Amino acid sequence: MKTTVRTCLIFAFLGAALLCGPSAWAQQQQDFSKVQIKVTKVSGNIYMLEGAGGNIAASIGEDGIVIVDDQFAPLAEKIQVALKDLKITDKPVRFVINTHYHGDHSGGNEPFANAGSTVIAQDNVRKRLESGGTAGNGGSGKMDMKPANKAALPIITFEHDVTVHLNGEDIRALHFPSGHTDGDSIIFFPKNNVVHMGDDFVRYGFPFIDVASGGSVQGMIDAMEKATAQLPADVKVIPGHGALSNLDDVRAFTKMLRETSAVVQKAINEQKTLEQMKQQKILEPWAQWKGDFVNDDAFIETLYNSLTGHKGEFMKHN
Ligand SMILES: [Zn+2]
Repeated sequence: MKTTVRTCLIFAFLGAALLCGPSAWAQQQQDFSKVQIKVTKVSGNIYMLEGAGGNIAASIGEDGIVIVDDQFAPLAEKIQVALKDLKITDKPVRFVINTHYHGDHSGGNEPFANAGSTVIAQDNVRKRLESGGTAGNGGSGKMDMKPANKAALPIITFEHDVTVHLNGEDIRALHFPSGHTDGDSIIFFPKNNVVHMGDDFVRYGFPFIDVASGGSVQGMIDAMEKATAQLPADVKVIPGHGALSNLDDVRAFTKMLRETSAVVQKAINEQKTLEQMKQQKILEPWAQWKGDFVNDDAFIETLYNSLTGHKGEFMKHN
């Protein structure tokens, strides 16, 4: 039962809660009619939008609107209304940049594209959306991702980085390989001193690392260290999920990733099995990071699979 609930949580985050069966929790999460979009001014002309799914960053100005991530398709209209209600511009959402392919960040691609937006993402985001496949931690938490409709696919893709020059700012998406997935980008708003980290940095506790989609804990640590090194000390950080943050929050998160992965690596070197690591509660000193979404056992499993290169069984798809 516990595993079922946890798996449902993972599915819900990825945007396909119905796949985990008729649990009340999953169905409740799918009811988007009750979701309200909360808009927070971050800095200058950058706003953060929260509803269901990943956080959205919006650059709103004289040239129009650029958003980073677009939550779920049923919320697209509410997101459009929330942007218009700010009464800053009548111009449309010209570009959507996806931080990665998961449905709680890219689920709105199709309605936004149909409304005239151009979707931009790293090469692997398009590939994974197009093919579908398996997402998961390489072990007990996994799900089949259906191929996306053509209209949902990013029509501009990049390998390393891309810059959108709008609203007087060089909005730059920079790819960091193999962190939360293999298609992650961190988006920099240098003039406004804001960054959107995607799911390489989240505030719900131990992170979900999609090992089955090419993610790894080492890549996540590298991404956080490299991004932190090039950011001003007072930068405002929009996490993939959770409250607006600062670099101290990112450093604490990175430290936890470094320490917990070292502990699991040590246990692997000592030939301990995954079951023994769970029984011995080797992540107990980091208990404060245990979340409803990823608990300590699920995170031990994630780190174990990431560090041993176990990607899980790949589900066949059409
Ligand atoms: Zn994600």
